[in-house]
Formats: sequence, C-alpha cells, structure tokens
Amino acid sequence: MKYIGAHVSVSGGVSNAPLEAHAIGAKAFALFTGSSSRWSSKPISDEEADLFKSRCVELGYTPSEILPHDNFLINLGSPDSKKLAMSRKSFLDEMRRCEQLGLTMLNFHPGSHLNELSEEECLDRIAESINLTLGQTTGVTAVIENTAGQGSNLGFDFRHLAHIIDKVEDKTRVGVCIDTCHAYSAGYDLATEDGYRKTWEDFDSIVGAHYLRGIHLNDDKKALASRVDRHASISKGTLGVDFFIRFVNDPRFDNMPIILETPDDTLWPEEIKWLYSKIIH
Ligand SMILES: [Zn+2]
Ligand SMILES: [Zn+2]
Repeated sequence: MKYIGAHVSVSGGVSNAPLEAHAIGAKAFALFTGSSSRWSSKPISDEEADLFKSRCVELGYTPSEILPHDNFLINLGSPDSKKLAMSRKSFLDEMRRCEQLGLTMLNFHPGSHLNELSEEECLDRIAESINLTLGQTTGVTAVIENTAGQGSNLGFDFRHLAHIIDKVEDKTRVGVCIDTCHAYSAGYDLATEDGYRKTWEDFDSIVGAHYLRGIHLNDDKKALASRVDRHASISKGTLGVDFFIRFVNDPRFDNMPIILETPDDTLWPEEIKWLYSKIIH
C-alpha cells in the first residue's frame, strides 16, 4: 500500500494539518510542529495536541504515515559552539513536540560544515547531536534527509548517511528519508531505468534499505549532479514521467510516508490523484 501525501500547512494550529491532508486526498502528510524559521515556537497546548490526535484517528492517519520536519535554522554539525548549542536545544524541543503529539519520527537535514570543519568532523558532530537528543527523549526516531549538496550541506552522498548512522548508538531510533529531487541533484540518476536500479542498490549496500522511513517525492528543476536544490512539480522537471510511474509501482516504498514538497500546492490534489492512477494492480 502506498501512502502518498504532501507537506501541509499548520496555519491556525497543528490540529489543522490532518484536515488539510484529508482535503487534498492525502494518505500521508508532513508538517512543521512549530515555526519553520524560528529557533523556538510557542508551546503546543494539551487541548491542541489532543485535537491533533483525535483528528488523525478520525481521518485515518497513524503516526507511521506522518513525517514532521524540523525548522530550517538547526545545524546539528555547526562549527560554531554557540550555534551548535542553540541547534541542539531547538532540535530537542522539536523532538519533544513530536512526543507530545504522539508522533514517532522527526525528519531533518544533517548539517553544514560552513568550510570550517572537515566533512568527517562535521558528520561526527551531527551523530553526537543525535545521540544527545535521543538520550533525552523516547519513542521518536531521528530521520536524516539526504540533501542536494548545495553550499556546504552534507548528506548528499549516501556514504555521509551511513557514516552518521554508524556513530548513532541507538540504531533502532535512526532512519533515513530520501528526497528524490535532492538525490538527482546530488548525482544519483533516478531518471533512467539503469540509474534508478543502481541508485537503490547503492542505497541498500551503503546505508541499508531497512533504514528507509520515508520519501520526499519531488521532481527537479535542475540537471543531474547540479548540486542545486530546486523542486519541480511532479513530471514537470528533469526526473520526468517515467520515473514517477516506476516509483509508484515499486513495492520497496510501500507502507511509509511519501511526501510531495512540490512548489505549486494548488496542484497537490491532482498530483496525488495522478500518482495513484499510475499504480498498476
Ligand atoms: Zn527537508
Ligand atoms: Zn525534502
């Protein structure tokens, strides 16, 4: 079973997210549990958390189809000790918000070395940040997202993901989300049949398929290996129609959230419908 949805708005409160998801025909959804551009957000009230949970139950969403995303300021591999401390504090708060909402995963970008640390030092620092956070929380898995490799962002190479996971102490609470636009921009050729096969073989041999917890399903505005992060609407970019048809018919992506982060949210109902229509039974 494929659980396809999108990263929905939480304007008016997190409890609106399941309503937004339902309205666009989504079977999964992503959300920010607070502000996406601030270090801290106002606490979620118990009433709001209860309303979120009851709406999820009512509309048929379980935590395994919900993939919250952390805010964009957090850099768990920051070379600056002050920024690192702020990032760790904010990340812990993000995890606790997930706990409060009864959610079991938190998706985040690994971090950036800002040309002040080696790749290895930065990856070690990210793993240390994850260990510190997991040690203070329960029940939420840290889900690392691959990146396009823009600027000094790490996580564009599957070996980066493997390096971090290797240093995480609790392997039961670490996972990976693959963003298809980021992967293609990072040089993984998902657009061709051969490249598609090889990419997932590499993922399995380098990271391990059992670590995959979710997918960000996006087309790409840029060329293969551009190292630029620009999402395109489904089948309107360089990944193209064949990729999406191959993907929705691939059983390796059953039973996990498949989240659209495509730029035109007015197209989401149509995109979700089109993707489901391409599944051959
Ligand atoms: Zn992301
Ligand atoms: Zn993404």
